[in-house]
Amino acid sequence: MTVFKVGKATITRIEETYLAIYPPADLFPDWSDAHLKAHGHWLVPHHYDPDTRKLKLSVQSWLIQLDGRKILVDACCGNQKSRPTRPWWNMLDTPWLDRLAAAGARPDEIDMVMCTHLHHDHLGWNTRLKDGRWEPTFANARYVFSKPDFDYFQKLDLDPATAPAEFGTFRDCVLPVVEAGRADLVSGPHRLNEFIEILPAPGHSPGHFVFKLEIGGSRAMMTGDVFHHLLQVYYPDWNFPKNSNADDARTSRRRVLDDCAASGALVFPGHVGAPFAGFIEKNGPSFVPQF
Ligand SMILES: [Zn+2]
Repeated sequence: MTVFKVGKATITRIEETYLAIYPPADLFPDWSDAHLKAHGHWLVPHHYDPDTRKLKLSVQSWLIQLDGRKILVDACCGNQKSRPTRPWWNMLDTPWLDRLAAAGARPDEIDMVMCTHLHHDHLGWNTRLKDGRWEPTFANARYVFSKPDFDYFQKLDLDPATAPAEFGTFRDCVLPVVEAGRADLVSGPHRLNEFIEILPAPGHSPGHFVFKLEIGGSRAMMTGDVFHHLLQVYYPDWNFPKNSNADDARTSRRRVLDDCAASGALVFPGHVGAPFAGFIEKNGPSFVPQF
């Protein structure tokens, strides 16, 4: 189990999957063998699999435990979710809930679920099947959703030309939570409590958030999909292919990386491989990860 300390908070990684999935050039068109030569010493084995020649990405949640509170950041893909166009994450049956329990939280003990954005791989465990219906997995939690993302995906979901939004995720992971009265739709910037601030970082989705933590002088940043792979720290203009606005994604990435470097925050991304969290250093017009 991967555990970090930020002040008196314990932050535990809850893994769902950790797979070599994408040929690098499929994600980053500027990729070449020269990049493998320059970066191979840290890419292999945790971020690039030399056997399949594919980039490794983790799908993970972060569990924050502080003063008896248990807060989940992002909720992976979930079990039994039908995503036929995403074969790596279709109809999963993983022991994610057992891993959450091993980290110290049963579903009914989670106080809050915070989703960085409303994509299928950040919402899955929001709900689980009970008697043929999708019900909130975390029965006592408030769920914090981005209102700009909610509005965007609701519009796509209501339009027959684009429905169901996000491969059905809006209907099976978002609406059941809203209908159960457990969702708080938030527009950033927004101070959530004495130690968490919600900041907009649009581009990958219109309402993508980052969560800034300050606990007794120690700082952390939960960055979701502002970058998917550490290569994008070295090359902040390299975009993941899926974005609502590619230019905004680049602008947000540079701004968040600048903020992380200046503040010395421990950075918790959504998909980066082992050791899964680390620091960012400024390096001229670019950045270097210290993971
Ligand atoms: Zn993601």
